[in-house]
Amino acid sequence: MEMIPHCPECGELIEVPKIDFPGPFRCPACATWLSVPRTYSAAGAGAALAISCIGCYLFGLRGVLLLGAMFLGWFPASAIVIIVSLLFFPPRLRVHTDEAQSILKLR
Ligand SMILES: [Zn+2]
Repeated sequence: MEMIPHCPECGELIEVPKIDFPGPFRCPACATWLSVPRTYSAAGAGAALAISCIGCYLFGLRGVLLLGAMFLGWFPASAIVIIVSLLFFPPRLRVHTDEAQSILKLR
């Protein structure tokens, strides 16, 4: 398993701190526009919410209290998910295309 993301064009290894996650950003070696798939961030957010929900449920919270605590617990769970995912499941970079750019502009 590759632990360091690389440029799909030139193969240059790109350290995580140099990645612009909302992107796009340029490869430092070949200047190709790269981006992180939006599904990567969405999957992390979903995993953090699920972890928070399960944790609160196991803690004995139910009903509205569970719902409120679940969203409060989302933030610390997100920090854990971000650290674990960057260490063990770094993003697979892709060449940024106009199609992806047009999706970003829909926000
Ligand atoms: Zn490159």
